[in-house]
Amino acid sequence: MEQRPVPGRTAGEAAGRPAVPGNPPPRQDAADARRRIPRTDALMRDPRLSAAVDRLGAHRVKAAVRQAQEEARAGGIAPEQVPQTALDLLPGTASALRPVINATGVLLHTNLGRAPLSAAARQAVREAAGPTDVELDLTTGVRARRGRSTLAALHERVPAAGAAHVVNNGAAALVLAATALAAGKEIVVSRGEMVEIGDGFRLPDLLVSTGARLREVGTTNRTTAADYAAVIGPDTGFVLKVHPSNFRITGFTRSAETADLTGLGVPVVVDIGSGLLAPHPALPEEPDADSQLRAGAALVTASGDKLLGGPQCGLLLGQEALVRALARHPLARALRVDKLTLAALEATLTGPPTPTAVALTEDPDRLRSRADRLAVALAAAGIDVRAVGSAATVGGGGAPGVTLPSAALSLPEPYAAALRTGRTPVVGRLEAGRCLLDLRAVPPEDDDRLAEAVRAVSAGGRDRPPGDEQAPRGGGERSAGRTTADRRPAERRA
Ligand SMILES: *Cc1c(COP(=O)(O)O)cnc(C)c1O
Repeated sequence: MEQRPVPGRTAGEAAGRPAVPGNPPPRQDAADARRRIPRTDALMRDPRLSAAVDRLGAHRVKAAVRQAQEEARAGGIAPEQVPQTALDLLPGTASALRPVINATGVLLHTNLGRAPLSAAARQAVREAAGPTDVELDLTTGVRARRGRSTLAALHERVPAAGAAHVVNNGAAALVLAATALAAGKEIVVSRGEMVEIGDGFRLPDLLVSTGARLREVGTTNRTTAADYAAVIGPDTGFVLKVHPSNFRITGFTRSAETADLTGLGVPVVVDIGSGLLAPHPALPEEPDADSQLRAGAALVTASGDKLLGGPQCGLLLGQEALVRALARHPLARALRVDKLTLAALEATLTGPPTPTAVALTEDPDRLRSRADRLAVALAAAGIDVRAVGSAATVGGGGAPGVTLPSAALSLPEPYAAALRTGRTPVVGRLEAGRCLLDLRAVPPEDDDRLAEAVRAVSAGGRDRPPGDEQAPRGGGERSAGRTTADRRPAERRA
């Protein structure tokens, strides 16, 4: 059977030893030690390891046991350390996904899964995980409309929408609209809005993949309503407006407003991207669903896990007949969301402010006092740390060019890699040779965990202490260990 090493750590590291053991023990001792290594079946009867089997499955636990035994055979750990080493190698949960603290200063970090769910949404997901009445009316016992309470919540939040439908993500919403309304026809779109979202994902390619043809109008920097009007004809499926959500063009620019395009006799579909349902005072430039529909858009598409602060999903909001036709299209079945998403979305829409909303409006002075308090406590432990001002961004395809005043802990650069690989991974960013831990996207209740992670790095423990000979320093190790999250915010918005 394939033995899967536990990612990221060697058994020696898990036992608090350096990755490369020092001098090997003398040959005779080594043979003795090998005989004392506990056997797999004995180890699996250890109550702590058998409890881990209930939590994680036998396959994972056996792999950790074998890895610990192997490390003992190699002389990296003593035979007596094998059970504890195996336990230390086990992940906290059955999924390899690890919860991290987002101290990048990018509120919606694509590499960190965009919006964190609210406590209400997490609770809703847990409750929906078993059998639920997602498609059953419990009163009558007959089949009911899937996700009806979630759709009702969407309708309540966006009164201008005649109907709503939910699919897997923003891209799926566009695919459904393009397939149902424009396959074999033309989608009229401005040359200034042929955007790439991130990771090589280009909207024009996505639209063309549905069998629609793109009819480009205007220029990169200027497109007028007349440009659209000139090409509308029997072949037009719809006019598409796309929010340039991750870049800005300034200078000699012009674009047509939704309201200028609604008299052309074809539906206007607006991809707002970020999922703001109504105008947000802190983000005056960011389009929102309600305003776009009031301006005459037939359909608005958006993501659920950007500024809306919910689970990954795609929203379709608009004229009732049109949305119903999309929901009935055969492709809709392939794009439909699961009950967990429906539960999380409803709780996001009806529950208390999301972590994203809170982070967006957090008072800079409060962030500064949190940073000051943390810096004082950590400096008292002898750590080279100070509280500094910082600039956070929205990220994740929203509010390009907006910076949010913030506060951060500034630490020596090697902390970045060590914090990322610690027991509670913390992802910060590098700026001017320092590791910054920006607090805007960190919920206040995580401050203690953040401080604990910094202390653990400083104390060495299983993480290499900064300044240690083995600490990442120039060369391949560092660049390989560097994530996009280490780069400056402007480069890693997606
Ligand atoms: C993010 C974004 C998308 C893609 O949405 P996903 O939910 O990532 O599929 C499409 N259009 C715009 C304008 C966006 O900002």
